[in-house]
Amino acid sequence: MKIVRFLAGNKASYGLMEGGSIKEVEGKFASFIEQPPQTTGRSFSLEEVKLLAPCTPSKVICIGLNYKKHAEEMNLSLPETPVIFMKPSTSVLGPGKEILLPPQSRRVDYEAELGVVIGRPAYSVSREQALDYVLGYTCSNDVTARDLQSPDEQWTYSKGFDTFAPLGPVIETEIEDPNKLEIRGYLNGKIVQESNTEDMIFDAPYLIEYITACMTLLPGDVIITGTPSGVGPLSDGDTITIEIEGVGQLTNKVRRR
Ligand code: MG
Repeated sequence: MKIVRFLAGNKASYGLMEGGSIKEVEGKFASFIEQPPQTTGRSFSLEEVKLLAPCTPSKVICIGLNYKKHAEEMNLSLPETPVIFMKPSTSVLGPGKEILLPPQSRRVDYEAELGVVIGRPAYSVSREQALDYVLGYTCSNDVTARDLQSPDEQWTYSKGFDTFAPLGPVIETEIEDPNKLEIRGYLNGKIVQESNTEDMIFDAPYLIEYITACMTLLPGDVIITGTPSGVGPLSDGDTITIEIEGVGQLTNKVRRR
């Protein structure tokens, strides 16, 4: 299933995207991993609703330098343990919304990434059991104020601006193997990033084991798993699309704030 969150009128609901329509569902997000959500009988066309980010993370955990070729293009050595940072919940942005370029940055980059959406509380989870805690996968964009990243050695400032964590449009729950997915970025329709998640240095099950050895992941939390090579700058008026095989396409416009 493809889980979405959407606004119809003033009401935010979860739904299932099927073809060109959305079937509203009931129940709490945290229950979706246990049993398929029940439809309410109400359905909408895509034109009738505004899609929101497909979950409301308490935290977005981000992995730096997780593709070999990206580390090379940044002239950085390969990490021996995952490089972890976080984006605040206020940076989350829905599909179709505008990424806002902040006035204090002269270079803001896109980074196409696979988002792993957690479905049940996860603490001290082994890599063998890790995928049991995953509800599904989404497209994500680790938007980065590149010129602010070096002075900011912990990356939170350069990657934590409002609108810097686009997610969506759906959570795809039927992916068997997250380690073999094509991942692409398109800037104004032209392909700029192309790789496969099998090129990750640390795969999703390992990342879940590593992160949950430290902190509890909650339903709706998202791990964005690093970007392949080909990162580059965004300008006012651009359109950036992140595509992940079997999940879909996440498109956002860009505007100077
Ligand atoms: Mg990144």
